[in-house]
Amino acid sequence: MMKNETILEIVGKIADRISEEKLFLTELDNAIADGDHGINMSRGFEAVKEKLSGADIAVPADLFKLVGMTLVSTVGGAAGPLYGTAFMNMAKALKDRTELSLEDFLKALEGAVEGVKMRGKSTTGEKTMLDAMVPSLEAMKAAFAEGKDTKAVLEAGVNAAREGVEYTKTIAATKGRASYIGERSIGHQDPGATSYTMMLEEVKKAVV
Ligand code: ADP
Ligand code: MG
Repeated sequence: MMKNETILEIVGKIADRISEEKLFLTELDNAIADGDHGINMSRGFEAVKEKLSGADIAVPADLFKLVGMTLVSTVGGAAGPLYGTAFMNMAKALKDRTELSLEDFLKALEGAVEGVKMRGKSTTGEKTMLDAMVPSLEAMKAAFAEGKDTKAVLEAGVNAAREGVEYTKTIAATKGRASYIGERSIGHQDPGATSYTMMLEEVKKAVV
């Protein structure tokens, strides 16, 4: 499914997308919290782009590790350590595999979800990125088990992530800064669930 060059390209696309959406993500965060999600994420992915340009990367795991470490050290707020852990856990799951199959990718995402849950002491239904991550992974695993091809699997994942974002509008935040306003967060979509969905959309666009 993906070699190093493809993954590098996708990370570049993700960085561009996040910087294009900087204002939008920040507005979403502003409505329910402190309005820095877009700024945080674009700063992080700009740094990722810089780091990757001169890096010595042998296997995909090296790449994910570098992305994770860069996000942890450059993104302020909750999202940095959470996304950073997600990418570092993807690296751990992949070990020294030289190429990613669809199955490897799903295993890596499982690691990412576990990492966010552990680091964030969070689960689904709390209006966070997990409300996009978890259902999209479940949908992709189900599509994969049914023997669907990569394109169909990623499509199922993106659709479920978008539904997850819609779901976050219906619930109150109980984790993260948005939990400070509790019930008043209802009606607003979660910024982290939104940024995750954007990333998955870029993977889908690049791979199919
Ligand atoms: P901060 O909340 O520190 O300002 P950001 O604005 O960059 O950081 O990120 C906010 C996003 O982080 C939220 O929209 C939510 O998706 C995610 N988030 C916050 N806390 C948690 C948590 N405990 N578990 C999972 N995701 C979380
Ligand atoms: Mg914020």
